Amino acid sequence: MDFKNILEYQKKDGELIKIERELSSNPSRKVSSEMIAVVKGAQEKSAMLESRAAGLEKDFQAIKKAYSDTTAQIEKFISKDLESLSQKDLESVISATNAILNNFNVLEKKLFSEAERLNITLNEFENAKKQYGAARAKYNQHKQIYDNLLKEKDPEIKRIKSELESLEKGIEPKLLAKYKQLRSDKLFPAFVRLVDRSCGGCRMELSAAEVEKVKSNGYLECDNCRRIIISD
Ligand SMILES: [Zn+2]
Repeated sequence: MDFKNILEYQKKDGELIKIERELSSNPSRKVSSEMIAVVKGAQEKSAMLESRAAGLEKDFQAIKKAYSDTTAQIEKFISKDLESLSQKDLESVISATNAILNNFNVLEKKLFSEAERLNITLNEFENAKKQYGAARAKYNQHKQIYDNLLKEKDPEIKRIKSELESLEKGIEPKLLAKYKQLRSDKLFPAFVRLVDRSCGGCRMELSAAEVEKVKSNGYLECDNCRRIIISD
């Protein structure tokens, strides 16, 4: 089998892979995707705080209602003519009044703690908003840097791709399919030489029979890394 064309193709493809690696390891690309995660986290946090605030609002309304119920009870007592009450009735009014006052104290405490929780929630919301804004700005900045790099590399990528396309015509389809499979599995170079008695890709030493096979068949798929080992 003649490997000349596929090796030429692989060499050219190596230029493309170099650019692809440069792009995928670009720090700005990494920062942008990290910022997307931060923005998403801040959005989730805001949604959580919003639902917590809705819960607090509901609690607050319940306390307000209890407060006005208690006020109504007091008004009922005030309208009573205390002078005309018997000692026993007076005692029961006093004890009821104490109970109402106690109720007021409890409600007051509840309101305070509710207000405090609301404050904490608002602060957290403010923080989430700041975090969101900062992440958004950082994302835009690094996205711009990465997009500029993409734009800069684009003509070169297009040139290599069109050269690869014309090289493809001279390659046996089965060989090309095998190459593309290995490439997509990130096994590059896909076609390697026999180096002494080892696979030129993963460096695993071959048995004598395998070395013989490479020489007689012209190639052998490496048992270890699946690359195609070809003889010189
Ligand atoms: Zn190997």
